[in-house]
Amino acid sequence: MSNKYQVPRGTQDIMGDDISLWQKAEGIIREQCARYGYQEIRTPVFEHTEVFKFQNDSSDMVTKEMYTFLDSGERSLTLRPEGTKGVIRAFVEHKLYGNPAELPAKLFYLGPMFRYERPQKGRYRQFHQFGVEAIGAKSPLLDAECIALGYDIAKAMGIKKVKILINTLGDDESRDAYRNALKEHFRPYLGELCGDCQRRFELNPLRILDCKVDRDHPSFASAPAISDYLNEPSKKYFEEVLAALDDLGIPYQIDSRLVRGLDYYSNTVFEAIPEDATGQQAAVFAGGQYDGLVEHFGGGSLPGVGFGMGIERMIDLAVEEGGIKSDSRSTDVYVISMGDVGSYALKATETLRKEGFRVDTDYQGRSLKAQFKASDRLRAKAIVIIGEDEYSNRLAVVKNTATKEQVTVSIDELTNTVKGFIG
Ligand code: ATP
Ligand code: MG
Repeated sequence: MSNKYQVPRGTQDIMGDDISLWQKAEGIIREQCARYGYQEIRTPVFEHTEVFKFQNDSSDMVTKEMYTFLDSGERSLTLRPEGTKGVIRAFVEHKLYGNPAELPAKLFYLGPMFRYERPQKGRYRQFHQFGVEAIGAKSPLLDAECIALGYDIAKAMGIKKVKILINTLGDDESRDAYRNALKEHFRPYLGELCGDCQRRFELNPLRILDCKVDRDHPSFASAPAISDYLNEPSKKYFEEVLAALDDLGIPYQIDSRLVRGLDYYSNTVFEAIPEDATGQQAAVFAGGQYDGLVEHFGGGSLPGVGFGMGIERMIDLAVEEGGIKSDSRSTDVYVISMGDVGSYALKATETLRKEGFRVDTDYQGRSLKAQFKASDRLRAKAIVIIGEDEYSNRLAVVKNTATKEQVTVSIDELTNTVKGFIG
């Protein structure tokens, strides 16, 4: 039996020096989103189950991975497994479509997502996603810009070896033609494919191509490619996306088998994977263009484009590649006190904090040795020492830990002395 006082399987405490990695990653994301004109939106971590579960949904995420529960009021709620649907729900609920001049609405989210999966490296039950949605416009340029944003964030985190796989699913007409062709193709092999694929065959044969169980079955290699079923407008749209990526200098590789795990995509789909990735488990961000989602939530037929990025996977990759680095805890000043000095040392600590220094002190009357150790551990650049003599004469000893220079000054000179030592 698992220990109930340990984190649930597939979740983790993020803490210690790792926190600095998360803060850096989040800082980079926020900075890039501001540059690209995306505004943050924070939707609830749980929603009515219907927000995520559409009729006839064939994705693993919806059919197998959701944390769904009844609350005490007998409502069926689901912990969000992804960000897009909640954002679209909010877009419609707040009628952000009201003023066409303000479209596309460019929104980003960042926070925990929940999926019941088999935990392994880069795959958790609670994980964190950053994602963007540009809702209410459809243009190959917007698709390309969206990919550029994800790519820029990866670069800014110091990830060099990432490549974009891209494909188009075409418009409705092209996709219908392709679905029929896939059905013709897979029908004779149906008995040899997994149960999921047999269901996908009925609901959405495109999703068969995304199967992780059957992907080495010989019928996969000979499956028809979408490129042969695209009508002219769909072809042109895709060519324009690729031309824009060329112009922006973003390297990509066309992958005609790429369909992505979610059901609602049309036209452009893409994913970013490490250059040396093997298998299909390694996408760091992935997304695409969608047409039907806003309408599904009752907001009229507005298109959108977006991606979701796994922050754990991005951080792992960035650290492996020597990109962002964690910082250990550090402080500017450590205030050491000896003997009975009342709150005099704490007051000195506060004075320095108000000047903007990062300052820590001892609260337990620990030994001098223990306090010096603490200041070492926090890598203090200066140490202030206050004993009973200093207390009664309103003085303080200030020591520069790098140069070992040490002076005794009046308490009114404390701030200036520290500034002189460490800037
Ligand atoms: P995969 O094929 O790896 O299961 P997916 O198609 O389910 O991915 P999306 O729903 O597109 O993934 O989610 C976007 C991104 O979120 C993924 O590219 C990945 O970086 C991250 N992600 C998805 N599921 C998890 C998970 N369980 N743990 C950690 N990160 C995840
Ligand atoms: Mg998945």
